[in-house]
Amino acid sequence: MNNIINPFARPLYVMTKPAGAHCNLACDYCYYLEKQKLYQGGEKHVMSDRLTEIFIREYIQSQFVSEVNFTWHGGEPMIRPLEYYRKVVRWQRQYAEGKSILNCIQTNGTLLTPEWCRFLHDEGWLVGISIDGPRDMHDAYRMKRNGGPTWEKVMQSIDMLDRYNVEWNAMAVVNDITASRPLDFYRFFRDELGCQYLQFTPVVERIQRHEDGRHLAHLLDENCDVAPFSVTPEAWGNFLCTIFDEWYHNDIGEMFVQTFEATLANWCGVTPGVCSLSNWCGHAAVMEHNGDIYCCDHFVFPEYYLGNILNRGILDMLNSEKQQAFAKMKTTGLPNQCKQCQWQFACHGECPRNRFARTKDGETGLNYLCSGYQQFFNHVAPYMEILKEKFGNQQ
Ligand code: SF4
Ligand code: SF4
Ligand code: SF4
Repeated sequence: MNNIINPFARPLYVMTKPAGAHCNLACDYCYYLEKQKLYQGGEKHVMSDRLTEIFIREYIQSQFVSEVNFTWHGGEPMIRPLEYYRKVVRWQRQYAEGKSILNCIQTNGTLLTPEWCRFLHDEGWLVGISIDGPRDMHDAYRMKRNGGPTWEKVMQSIDMLDRYNVEWNAMAVVNDITASRPLDFYRFFRDELGCQYLQFTPVVERIQRHEDGRHLAHLLDENCDVAPFSVTPEAWGNFLCTIFDEWYHNDIGEMFVQTFEATLANWCGVTPGVCSLSNWCGHAAVMEHNGDIYCCDHFVFPEYYLGNILNRGILDMLNSEKQQAFAKMKTTGLPNQCKQCQWQFACHGECPRNRFARTKDGETGLNYLCSGYQQFFNHVAPYMEILKEKFGNQQ
């Protein structure tokens, strides 16, 4: 390691894709599926046992903390047979070196079986399950490859997880449809699912045709149209403010809404648990099925390739100049409008992947969702002061 100060006093984190970008669904807004085009052979790719074992050993060895978090992601990780994950658990135990091992699997919830549930329960895995709200909202974009709906199946899977006492969280995206009915969306999770933890992410994609067949843009692409399923800045601001009011008046202490908790953390001067609203990037890389590691799950593009685990160490990659430059982009890439913004401490320019807009002065690098965040922070500021007074010492 060439740094005097160890940058990984915090957990080092590499999200893992054991089935690559392969998925049994075809959601309209998916930014994973087209990653298959980065690799010849497309969706047939899966992570080999040998590579998985190497990764597990090295990932554990690379940690400077006593708790090691594995996240199994996709595509759809449950496409891999359960036997694969039984081997994962055996290797984790073999290489644990006395560290605690935590596992989270993020799934579309359509391949869950009782056998899976028994495994998840017995091994204490956390399940992140994707559901975009009530049936009509969810089925608008989250569909099977033949176009069929998936909501019913996901709801059955959530029931099954409850029956087998498997811990799960809901993960939703905010697109043009969900953003238009914030209270229907929020109350579904609270009243119908009984969720106590809700994580939602704005969908912002732009269209850019690449020679290899990919059609989504990345940060360096210019003059691309925003995809129609994306949430607009105005709708995002309205969505956040409306749900915040409902949460503030009824659900504080009952519902954990990641965006609001992160906002309060920033108000209290504490680093929030979500990277998009914190002042740093770069601690959460992603590994594809063949061991290729990229700067971040949202930056799986050739330009953000760090190396392959078979010929370069994880620590070396995450400590490389390229990754550090990526990490610094969060702050160094801010336009003057952000640097002078009264909400910079709470926003930090949000995720760099969405910084393709221009400021009032024509400067590049402004977050597309900026006006939505301004609306939100303006709205919640007085309440955040009250919450800071009340809960600040618990942050
Ligand atoms: S379930 Fe996830 S990986 Fe599969 S198509 Fe939908 S968004 Fe993409
Ligand atoms: S680029 Fe976005 S998603 Fe990736 S670490 Fe930074 S804030 Fe998080
Ligand atoms: S609210 Fe807008 S101007 Fe302020 S920090 Fe966020 S993106 Fe920048």
